This record gives sequence, structure tokens and C-alpha cells, in this order.
Amino acid sequence: MDERPRVLVVEDDVPLASMLGELLREEGYDVETAHDGQRALHLGLTREFDVLLLDRGLPAIEGLDVLVRLRRKGVSTPALVLSALGNPADKVEGLDRGAEDYLAKPFDVGELLARLRSLLRRGSTATALLRVPGGQLDVGGRTVTRTGGDVLVLSEREGDLLEQFARRPTQIFGREDLLLSVFPEAADPGVVDTYVHYLRRKLGRDVVLTVRGVGYRLGVIG
Ligand code: CA
Repeated sequence: MDERPRVLVVEDDVPLASMLGELLREEGYDVETAHDGQRALHLGLTREFDVLLLDRGLPAIEGLDVLVRLRRKGVSTPALVLSALGNPADKVEGLDRGAEDYLAKPFDVGELLARLRSLLRRGSTATALLRVPGGQLDVGGRTVTRTGGDVLVLSEREGDLLEQFARRPTQIFGREDLLLSVFPEAADPGVVDTYVHYLRRKLGRDVVLTVRGVGYRLGVIG
């Protein structure tokens, strides 16, 4: 397994993006780069990252809009916004719209790296809250808080399975993949169907959708 932290660098200034890519690779990151908001949104929704480094002024979709859309889809990867807009009001806007941290350009490389490390530490220890249809999954506590306030307790396997779906809300998972990642000791993919059934019984039919002939995916969020 590759244990390097995965970072998505979103920056339309190509020389700056390559500089950041080089710097982060030297620091041991696995780097993916997007030069516009559309691409950033696509990558953010389809791949898993440990941290996002996001410029604001971007072609296609503005950086904070990318972030808002990712958050709406349940992507909770910590994000550091890097922007030429560095007034306190700009920072407040960035933080209010879902960024965990905000750094103004021009920035100090050492400070940028330290802030990314801090986000990575926070990401690995904080209780992750992931959006699921009709509520929010607390990964550590294995509970789902319904929009109305009811709290439902999941078993360990139910929690693990729902977490898989919730971490990649648009991905379609094959039963074999779910078998490997959630029930590694089981041989029969039927166990996946059984646990999907348990989740639906607890959380409602639409919490997980069947994709005929392929597998399952998370239900549509709000
Ligand atoms: Ca820009």
C-alpha cells in the first residue's frame, strides 16, 4: 500500500502549479493537479485525497464554488485555500464556505507545508462526519444522525460499509470490491447484499442504490 498523503493541487497558474507539484512531491506527497474548476470538481468527486490545495480564481468554476459543491456531495477532505485575495473578509468567506484553512498569496513555502501537515494531522484524528441520504454518518461513533435529530446506532460492519459509500458518494462499487474492503475474511459476495439489506432496514430503502449488473452506490443526497 502506498502510504504517501494524496493532495489535489488546484491552480490555473501553470508555472505555480508545477512549482507546487514539485515541492509537494519532494515532501513525500502523491500529487494530482487540476488547472480549472471543472477538472477539480471531477477529480474531487471521483478520487480520494487526504488534503486539497485550492486556488480561488479559476476558469470554469471558481475555487470556493468547487469547494461548496464538493461539500454538498459529502466530500469532507480538509481544504486549504490559497488565494491572492487575502483580506480578512476574503478569509472569512473562504472559511465560511467550507475551507479548513486559508493562506494568502504570496505565501511562504515553509508555512504552506506546515499548514498542510497540520490539516493532515487533524484529518486523521478528527471524527469524520460524512453526509448520507437523510442524515450524517459519524464514522468513529458509528452512528447516523437523521436530519430530524434521531440517532441510529450501526453495527461495526454496517458502519464500515456505509463509510465506504459515503466517502465516495458518486462511485459505483462492485460487490467483489466491497467484499474485499469491508468483509475481507468472507468468501461469498452475498454477505454484501445482506449488509446492504441491514442498512436499508435501518436507514430507509434509498440509503444505498442498486446499480443493476454492477453493484451498489450511495443514495442521492438531499
Ligand atoms: Ca488563479
